[in-house]
Amino acid sequence: MKNKRKLIAGNWKMNGSLAANDALLKGILAGLADAVCDVAVAVPAPYLAQVQAAALGSLVAVAAQDVSQHEAGAYTGEVSAAMLKDFGVRYALVGHSERRQYHGETDVVVAEKAQRALAAGITPIVCVGETLQEREAGQTEVVVKRQLAAVIHLNGHCISEVVVAYEPVWAIGTGRTASPEQAQAVHAVLRAQLSAASEHADRIRLLYGGSMNAANAAQLLSQPDIDGGLVGGASLKAPDFLQIIAAAR
Ligand code: PGA
Repeated sequence: MKNKRKLIAGNWKMNGSLAANDALLKGILAGLADAVCDVAVAVPAPYLAQVQAAALGSLVAVAAQDVSQHEAGAYTGEVSAAMLKDFGVRYALVGHSERRQYHGETDVVVAEKAQRALAAGITPIVCVGETLQEREAGQTEVVVKRQLAAVIHLNGHCISEVVVAYEPVWAIGTGRTASPEQAQAVHAVLRAQLSAASEHADRIRLLYGGSMNAANAAQLLSQPDIDGGLVGGASLKAPDFLQIIAAAR
């Protein structure tokens, strides 16, 4: 589908403060007039209300960085999909490699989280990606296909309701970006897997993430199967984030 709008999602991770978020959002909102892509920012849970209010009526959608796999109840510290929905959250990152790595999230948990998000009317941005060790062992395809397979047949939902982000773990926060060719090669594998599962595979947005910045965004985003970006470090500076948004045409 040629006229699919790209999506640029910032991932603030565990950064920010009321004052810093305010300044960053003002900077982003001031520079969006010519944007032709969809834009989201994934913010720490305590700041969802702040960002929802500041971004209201703008192009910037609010995203959460995680969502509980449970519906409600005795799960101390968890935030449910329904709670996120209450705060106008449109997208939720699911299975970010930092969650998989530091919080033991398995493919099964990731699928449950994606399911909860969808059930609440939130679009999950499901992250997949290989570690350096896996890439060097020639396992990239096997790993990303396994991670994607876990979310491809969610109960009562079509995979076309999901956004997928390919984030090679070795490229996250390292300044070591996948080359456009490396990223496109994996995106093509994911697209083929999606095509086998859904007639709407063309519609599914496949984001690239991992040290995307103002300098490399245009080249990455011009690849045929790269439909947007999931941007960490460079989303914390309004001018950089805006340059990436401008590159998403
Ligand atoms: P990075 O992070 O852009 O800082 O590499 C991307 C991510 O983790 O989503």
